[in-house]
Parts: sequence; C-alpha cells; structure tokens
Amino acid sequence: MVNIKINGQEHEVEEGIRLLTVLREKEYKIPSLCFHTALTPSASCKLCVVEVKLKDKPPVTKLSCAIKTREGMEVVTESAMVYKLRNIAIGNLLKMAPRSKAIIQIGEEFDLITGVIPDGCIRCRLCMRVCREIIGARALKMVKRKGMNFVVPREGGHCIGCGTCANICPTDAIQLVDKNSVRTIMIRDEVIGRHPLERCEICGILFATPKFLHHVQEQEDSVDHPDVKEHHKLCSNCAKLYSKRTQKLTAPVFSKPHGYKSVSK
Ligand code: SF4
Repeated sequence: MVNIKINGQEHEVEEGIRLLTVLREKEYKIPSLCFHTALTPSASCKLCVVEVKLKDKPPVTKLSCAIKTREGMEVVTESAMVYKLRNIAIGNLLKMAPRSKAIIQIGEEFDLITGVIPDGCIRCRLCMRVCREIIGARALKMVKRKGMNFVVPREGGHCIGCGTCANICPTDAIQLVDKNSVRTIMIRDEVIGRHPLERCEICGILFATPKFLHHVQEQEDSVDHPDVKEHHKLCSNCAKLYSKRTQKLTAPVFSKPHGYKSVSK
C-alpha cells in the first residue's frame, strides 16, 4: 500500500494500479471515453488528464489512465491547466465524431467547451421555405442556440408528414424514415413529425400520412384545374396508371378507331 493525496486529501491505496481506477473508486469525477478496466490503457481520448506532483518535482499534467500509483503522489483533479487540456481533448474528439452523444454529454457534464455541434444543416432554409410557401404547414422555424441558428420543429405538431423538407434538403440534414407503418421526420435527434402511414387503395403499399392525404383532398376541393390529381388515395405509380388524364392520353392505343378491321393472316 502507498499513501497519496488527492485534492489535498490523504488516501491509502494499492501500489502500482492505474490512477484513474483509484480516482473512480474514491468517487472523483474524471471524464474518459477510452478507458476499460479489463484492457491495457491506450491514453487515446486524453480526457482523463490530471495534475500530478511527485516528490521534489514540479507538478505536471498526466493522463490518469496511463500512470500508476506511487508513494507520495499528489494529485489535483481540477485546475486551470487540466480544464484547458480537457477542452483541447474534447475539441479533437468532436472533430472525429461531431455527432457523438457520449462526447457531447461529457462536455456538458464537465462544463467543457464543445462549441456548435455540426448537424449537417447549412442554414439554406429550403426546408422552412418549402414547408411554408408550398405545403402551407409552417412546421419548421429557426431558433438561436449558443449564438447560432438552428432549424427546429415548431411547437404544436404542425407537420403533416409530406416529406418535402427531407426531399428538398441539399445536405440530407433532415431524415425521413418509414418503419413499422410509421413515418418519422427528424432533424438531428429532434422529431419534426411522427405519423401513421396509409396504404394505397390499389396496390396496398404504405405511402402517405392521413394528414397529408387530408391536405391533398383540401387542395383538390379548392383548386379548379384539369391537372389536379384526382386519385389522392393512390400511390404515385397507381395514380399515374389509373388517372383519368392518363387514360385519356392512352385511350387510342386500347380502343380501335372507327371503321377498323382486323386482318387475319
Ligand atoms: S414533412 Fe412536415 S416539416 Fe417537412 S415539409 Fe412536410 S409538413 Fe413541413
């Protein structure tokens, strides 16, 4: 056994074990992502940095996963230098894994500077504009977070699940997932809309949300135009095949012209 000091408090601990293991056993909060007690430490994430002073030597910063306990070791887990190095470490980790929830959580927990997390959105506002100007749902808005604009869903569930925002997004920042008969539209981990899917009345594929079909019906009722889609309960393929307009266009192919006589060879 050896005697060490942690943040000025004396502890008797086993000699030659990883300092990070001791710190965790003694319930000091130390951030780390790459440490596993069953494996050799790799000192990769660099978050577990602490200040260590050995006898007659000035204090130095060390990765607590990499060094082992020694007699007379004095450890400081929080200092200006430790904070600075952890900030550098978290910045480097976020460059490699910008959407990692684990890194962001550690940043929040230890008050580290994570900056603005890239979310794939280039703030072109195409999604907001199409939702407002063409769909008329106004389901998206822009808010400021940490001094930067973010597209977020508007409160009150305005989304009708048409998917136009996801289709128009040039960087795929908006995700549309159809799974288990449910359509989910998301940006980052924020749900814009979640809707059940209805089946095409002819082929039976799941293709649209009830709110979207209702919206199409309303449009159809309010617009007097020969090209209005008359089969709004049909998927796009069936609508094309069975629309009156298509049938009109293809009619001469199927109906024999007046006076036509088949010739048998
Ligand atoms: S899916 Fe929702 S948010 Fe996106 S354009 Fe349609 S109504 Fe707007």
